[in-house]
Amino acid sequence: MKLSEAQSRHAELAEEIRRHDHAYYVRAQPTVSDQAYDRLYRQLVDLEQQFPELITPDSPTQRVGGQPLEEFKPSLHLVPMLSLDNTYSREELRAFVNRVARLLPDEPLVWIVEPKIDGLAVNLRYEQGRLVCGATRGDGTTGDDITANLRTIRSIPSRLHIAAGTAAPALLEVRGEVFLTKAGFDKINAERRAAGEEIFANPRNAAAGSLKQLDPRIVARRPLDILLYGLGRVEAGPGVPTSQSEMLAWLGQLGFRTPERTWRCTSAEELMQAIAELDTLRRGFGYETDGAVIKLDSFAQRERAGFTSKAPRWAIAYKYAAEQAQTKLKAITVQVGRTGALTPVAELEPVFLSGSTISRATLHNDDYIRTKDIRIGDTVTIEKAGEVIPAVVEVVAALRTGREQAFDFPKTCPECGSRVSRTGPQDEAEEEGSVWRCLNPDCPAQVRGRIEHWCSRGAMDIEGGGEVLARQLVASGLVRDVADLYYLKLSALLTLERVGEKSAQNFLDAVESSKARDLWRVLFGLGILHVGAGVAKALCRCYASVDDIFAASFDQLTACEDVGEVIAGSLLQWHGDGRNREILKRLRAAGVNLTSSLFQPQAAVGPFAGQTFVLTGTLPSLKREEAAAKIEARGGKVAGSVSKKTSWVVAGSDAGSKLEKARQLGVPVIDEAELLRRCGE
Ligand code: NAD
Repeated sequence: MKLSEAQSRHAELAEEIRRHDHAYYVRAQPTVSDQAYDRLYRQLVDLEQQFPELITPDSPTQRVGGQPLEEFKPSLHLVPMLSLDNTYSREELRAFVNRVARLLPDEPLVWIVEPKIDGLAVNLRYEQGRLVCGATRGDGTTGDDITANLRTIRSIPSRLHIAAGTAAPALLEVRGEVFLTKAGFDKINAERRAAGEEIFANPRNAAAGSLKQLDPRIVARRPLDILLYGLGRVEAGPGVPTSQSEMLAWLGQLGFRTPERTWRCTSAEELMQAIAELDTLRRGFGYETDGAVIKLDSFAQRERAGFTSKAPRWAIAYKYAAEQAQTKLKAITVQVGRTGALTPVAELEPVFLSGSTISRATLHNDDYIRTKDIRIGDTVTIEKAGEVIPAVVEVVAALRTGREQAFDFPKTCPECGSRVSRTGPQDEAEEEGSVWRCLNPDCPAQVRGRIEHWCSRGAMDIEGGGEVLARQLVASGLVRDVADLYYLKLSALLTLERVGEKSAQNFLDAVESSKARDLWRVLFGLGILHVGAGVAKALCRCYASVDDIFAASFDQLTACEDVGEVIAGSLLQWHGDGRNREILKRLRAAGVNLTSSLFQPQAAVGPFAGQTFVLTGTLPSLKREEAAAKIEARGGKVAGSVSKKTSWVVAGSDAGSKLEKARQLGVPVIDEAELLRRCGE
């Protein structure tokens, strides 16, 4: 491969990986399986090995995946929280063992194998034996301070168990994994399904989504638990452990839960046996595991082996492969969604995989079919991981007969025959990449999708308004938009096939009672691009009524928390369309509630009310938490990243990219002394 080719392939891969990182770490809603992600990642690593000049500091291979969220106070880790290198192959595991042996020649090596818990890493800080702070891993350097949420987990001791007559460690950072039990995961997804919300793809995303809740009362209802397996900074008297095995025993004495089973191995052969044993045992664990973590036991040896920028050199995760199956691709159909997006679907010869029979799988989009050269009649490999929709991952080229047929992506909408055009994704749930879209707003598939969405549990919660009835209502011409639902007559409903008097009346009653729903449900139900339930609620906290929302200017809208420029633009565009204004008018005339019970007149008081601060670098005297507390006590807000909405950046020494961003955006930068002056101190 030439350098120029490698460069463009590198850019493509990095971009794709960044998109998946965002879906996974920020939205907690991945769109591909971990194995598919890891394959892409591996391609990037290989490319960088071949062309080291392509490695840039912001390459996904150089940084720990997550990033701190704006909603929480940032929490700086005293010792970085790194990721782990991973492999799916036993060969590579052997190569890893040999590599470490070369780093530590002539030393006996003892390995500890632990289950790799499918959850989310957190750091708990204890001072004088008391829990003072709990944070997520974030970008490895700074995480989110989620202490209030972590305090709801019963197995986290708020005070260490210290034997009588001994002193608690002055400072102890312990690290472990917050997870949901298998039963808890199923329960949450069942609830989300019933509420019309997107389900979590795996327990890790569910745990992450739970810990991101701003309200600890909601977190308290989620069945979260924790297992501890590591240390950060420790300042303690004698008896500090010197190896993983000593540490696990010590953590147990201090009152922490540790992994229920670990293995001690001294050779690659023993490691292979341990990971095989764990693979059988893990199915009986109450929580999901996705692999084995193999770590050097001795802390002194770890220190000598060292770290890369992203992961320790003395540990590796061996991941168990997601289940795959091969089957025949009989046909490709195309579905039209609520936003007009055309999604190709593989119609498969039914095959049993991960506990269910699969006859359809997503093909993502046109580009995907072309890049993978997927043809009708091919034998394909499909994969299903967690609750991610089953996907076709590749063609089994060896089984090609020559009779397979390339698929021509339709140039017109398969539902209404209108022209389709290529656009980017317009909805959070949509796959990135180019999307073919039906541009006819009256396309029956889109209208059906809008009606179904309006009636869904998460929106207006109208019982009976599912796919079947929506299809009939639209096909019969009784309903063209959501407002029509409120003008339906019993006699008209009774003309539909298989609709009896009782079910028709029940549906009309459900429509009637939906008139009293809160405004955020209406806004979400209208299906305005980029306005999900969260954004709808944010808008309804800022504005008292639909009229106030649509009377607001672009700048006023973006001043509202959680409303960015894309969302504001989308709201204005939606309201700019006369047909949409007509829908609102008819909803109002029908008596649908258009006022918000969530509205909170600006509550923050104090000299910093309405101002957002970002802290960066090391301040000369204040700890980050102390500075944040001072700002918040005066009505200000502390955010994790700099944007146009940031009022001030408070910079200390070694401030990095945030300072640069502030300069680029022209956000004023002050130092600690100025902050204290403004605080009146
Ligand atoms: P990782 O999950 O592969 O391994 C590191 C993590 O393992 C640690 O941070 C910790 O949380 C966890 N862990 C569990 N048990 C442990 C134990 N006993 N000891 C030590 N650590 C333990 O790495 P990562 O950086 O957290 O995430 C990267 C991975 O996430 C990728 O390899 C991929 O599989 C997945 N991912 C998937 C997508 C997607 O779109 N599907 C996107 C981004 C990342």
